[in-house]
Amino acid sequence: MANKVIKISDISKSYDGDIAVKKLSLSVDDGEFLTLLGPSGCGKTTMLRLLGGFEECDGGEIFLDGKPMTGIEPENRPVNTVFQSYALFPHMSVYDNVAFGLKIAGIPASEIAGEVKKALKLVRLDEMGQRMPGELSGGQQQRVAIARAIVNKPRVLLLDEPMSALDYRLRKEMQKELKELQRTLGITFILVTHDQEEAFTMSDRVVVMNKGCIEQIGTPREIYEDPSNLYVARFVGEINILDGIITGKNGCSFNAEVEGVPVSVKSKRDFSEGDKVHVLLRPEDFRVEVMHEVKDDPELAEKFAKALLKGTVEHTYYKGATYDLDITLDDGKKILVSEFFDEDAETLYFHAGDRVAVGW
Ligand code: ATP
Repeated sequence: MANKVIKISDISKSYDGDIAVKKLSLSVDDGEFLTLLGPSGCGKTTMLRLLGGFEECDGGEIFLDGKPMTGIEPENRPVNTVFQSYALFPHMSVYDNVAFGLKIAGIPASEIAGEVKKALKLVRLDEMGQRMPGELSGGQQQRVAIARAIVNKPRVLLLDEPMSALDYRLRKEMQKELKELQRTLGITFILVTHDQEEAFTMSDRVVVMNKGCIEQIGTPREIYEDPSNLYVARFVGEINILDGIITGKNGCSFNAEVEGVPVSVKSKRDFSEGDKVHVLLRPEDFRVEVMHEVKDDPELAEKFAKALLKGTVEHTYYKGATYDLDITLDDGKKILVSEFFDEDAETLYFHAGDRVAVGW
């Protein structure tokens, strides 16, 4: 079993009576890339500040390598933080920014030079040591902040939305670079973001937070494919929530009436006849055909036999490799479906107004 570098036990934090983090417990493996994901105000940054020692918990305890952290100042924790604003010293060169912490710690100058050089090389800034922060692009400034945070080899690196100020393309690049850096260094990274795609691209595990509590912890795939509740399902990606009622069991599937239509559904959970259920489907889970083609084609009809909801296409949205369809089912429920775009076709296969059969 992997060594736990962080153990968080029942921690809470309130500001003027408002709860920011509520009795939260969590363990983090040595070398893990963990992401705290959730909407604005759910307590992600508070969690990082508690870990970094910039705030004290009202209750509970944080252990780093088995040692309780209560009362330990930030500079005495084996943890560094990369802030959203980078917080570089503007009057110091890149080299001096990175060297600062080592100088304060009384490391001999001869050693500092080697360590700073190594850290700058890791973030691909080896040629930029003499520049001032104001002479760097946003992405380069961020790399300096990272070099400064890894130069003294912390056990854990905390990253508070470090890519939010970068444009889309640079953010994508930095995500890959950071992940690669984490692999090279083997340091535990804890990232805070509200961007689901960023969390999924980079993390070994994702912690989905809501109002100071954890809703689910899991690998990106577990979170996306098997959300533990509706909050998580709605927060990560697009989700369609159909209403159903279980009408019987059929081997490892269930018979159900979904949006008024008898269908077969699969679930890892167990249900009894009469249970009201939500059937959760991602836009790409659906299979859609133009109605008259299903009727005219026995093979297609057979494929749709298990789930044949009927509806009308309201809008189509071209998105590159895929296109989205807004469909209103005949009972009024609106769903979002994602279809692959056939590059050879001159027009989209579906059009507004088409009557369609929907299965999954
Ligand atoms: P964001 O993504 O917007 O940064 P977050 O998930 O990081 O949000 P936190 O910054 O941890 O959320 O805030 C959690 C709650 O605690 C919020 O309601 C916030 O207003 C409150 N809060 C955070 N810091 C303070 C503070 N210093 N004083 C008072 N309230 C605070």
